[in-house]
Amino acid sequence: MNLILFGPPGAGKGTQAKYLVKKLNGIQISTGDMLRDEIKKDSDIGKKIINDMNDGKFVNDEIVNKLIENAIFDKTKKNRLIFDGYPRSLSQAKNLDFLLNSSNQKIDLIFFLNVNKKTIIKRIEKRKIIEKRTDDDLETILKRYDTYMETTKPVLDFYSKNSNFHVIDGSLEIKEITMKIDSFLNV
Ligand code: AMP
Repeated sequence: MNLILFGPPGAGKGTQAKYLVKKLNGIQISTGDMLRDEIKKDSDIGKKIINDMNDGKFVNDEIVNKLIENAIFDKTKKNRLIFDGYPRSLSQAKNLDFLLNSSNQKIDLIFFLNVNKKTIIKRIEKRKIIEKRTDDDLETILKRYDTYMETTKPVLDFYSKNSNFHVIDGSLEIKEITMKIDSFLNV
């Protein structure tokens, strides 16, 4: 099974992705984590993306798409993909479709975790203290939320026509969200 967790920063995608990894023996494909790893390693990619990441801007598609392509064509990950933070733009969504088709895979379920700006600000301020992410200050959070709203809205329109697209109230407690997701899994 391949799934997409979709929603603004702080919606709880990462938390639910980790749950789904255990439940489905899946692989979490978090572009945010992959990009943070590149920065930690101080790789060539890391050097290119550090400023955009810290400013809450999108990293360019070429870099992100390549990371995703590697994951999709990795045989050990086939039909175990749990996307968290990708796709974030219409061009990424189309690229994902293309790569999945080319590797004889499809998306089985798409969950949109819907949360308002106020809840997100509260959550990210908490996360900042726990995870010490450099892109979690208030100004950057607001920028990331606005960037999300602008560029991911067309992705929402793209997916919302599909019968496997489900909106979940992301302001619920973690366990309640998990239960809602579970109800669509049939496993
Ligand atoms: P996240 O951990 O998903 O909140 O992502 C943290 C940051 O990584 C974002 O603010 C972007 O700078 C970058 N990023 C993560 N995923 C993507 C993506 N699909 N496209 C472009 N930039 C991304």
